[in-house]
Amino acid sequence: MGSETRMEDLLKREIPFEEDEDGFILMAEGGGGGGGGGGKVVGLVLVDIVNGFCTIGAGNLAPVGPNKQINTMVEESVWLSKVFCKKKWPIFASLDTHHPDKPEPPYPPHCIVGSGEENFVPGTTL
Ligand SMILES: [Zn+2]
Repeated sequence: MGSETRMEDLLKREIPFEEDEDGFILMAEGGGGGGGGGGKVVGLVLVDIVNGFCTIGAGNLAPVGPNKQINTMVEESVWLSKVFCKKKWPIFASLDTHHPDKPEPPYPPHCIVGSGEENFVPGTTL
C-alpha cells in the first residue's frame, strides 16, 4: 500500500484532482459548469455489452458457461451507468450489430440483426 499511496500523492502534486462523493477522481482545474470534472465534460462509453458477447449460450461469440470476468464487467457497467445517470453525465453505448449478408472476418456470424444477440444484456437498460 505504501508505494500506491506515494504514487497517488505524486500524482496529486502533478495533476490537480479531487475525489467526489461517489469516489470519482475528477480534474480539479477550472470549476463550475456541468458534466463534472471541474468544468470538464465527463462521459461514459460502454462498448458492446450485448447478449452476443456476454450472455451464456447467446451466440457464436457468447460465453459457453459462467464467466466471472464478464459478470464483473456487466455489474460495474450497470453501476457506472446509474451513477452517470444520477449525475446527468453523458453515456454513449455501442451495440455490435451485423446484417446476415455482411460477415465480419475472421469472426463467425454474431450479433445478427433480429437475433437478440445485438441487444443489451438483460438488466443493463436503465
Ligand atoms: Zn461484430
